[in-house]
Amino acid sequence: MDIHLISPFDKIAKVALSESILNRANKNGYVNYYFYNLYKYADFPHQKIDDSPFGGGFGMILKPEPIFRIIDEIESKYKKQQKYRIVFPTPDGRILNQKISNELSKEEQLIFISGHYKGLDQRVRDELVTDEVSIGDYVLTGGDLPSLVIIDTIVRLIPGVIGKIESAKTDSFSNPLLDYPHYTRPESYRGLKVPDVLTSGHHENIDKWRQKKRLEKTKNRRPDLLEKFKNN
Ligand code: SAM
Repeated sequence: MDIHLISPFDKIAKVALSESILNRANKNGYVNYYFYNLYKYADFPHQKIDDSPFGGGFGMILKPEPIFRIIDEIESKYKKQQKYRIVFPTPDGRILNQKISNELSKEEQLIFISGHYKGLDQRVRDELVTDEVSIGDYVLTGGDLPSLVIIDTIVRLIPGVIGKIESAKTDSFSNPLLDYPHYTRPESYRGLKVPDVLTSGHHENIDKWRQKKRLEKTKNRRPDLLEKFKNN
């Protein structure tokens, strides 16, 4: 998979994607990351990437030209042979969930445009963007962290990226209950003991216990998911 990130502040994503599993996914050839700094595509000599809104009002808007130029460059690189989705993280988009991540993880080419200030010129959204995704009902200063959140959820689903894809399939939302509690060594710590069933070696009982815990937690914290599970 190729992931292209467009931002005025590309260092944020560069740093985040150079650590841990997301970095390993790149080193092991599962994903390529390409970074495009908006300033480099803005008109000389001022390299202005934003401007005030027509009609007045607060805040600055990211100008359309640098973004259109970057998309032209990506398109010419792939000679329009490949289809890609252009994701714009925005508070007024569809709220991110596992289904959206699963769907995006099957794409070959993804482009992320990180908004800043008041947001993007609407023409970019109308003409270029294919997916508008929110990471929740709150507002961040910029789209870099939301882009990274979405990318993280996608890359871990590419087969081979995490040791066993089964592991991702047992995480919260996948089936679609919440995850069960996990324990590791030591078996007893400060008087806190691991539940006996987990050290019993009885796999059927362990599975039953985990499913019971999943159901209990989901019922208490996310009854909406429990309804979905029952209707599955
Ligand atoms: N004027 C925008 C609005 O009210 O919908 C908010 C702009 S926000 C200050 C700047 C940028 O941060 C947005 O363009 C978007 O890329 C990103 N952003 C902020 N909150 C977000 C969220 N909850 N989900 C996804 N992206 C978000």
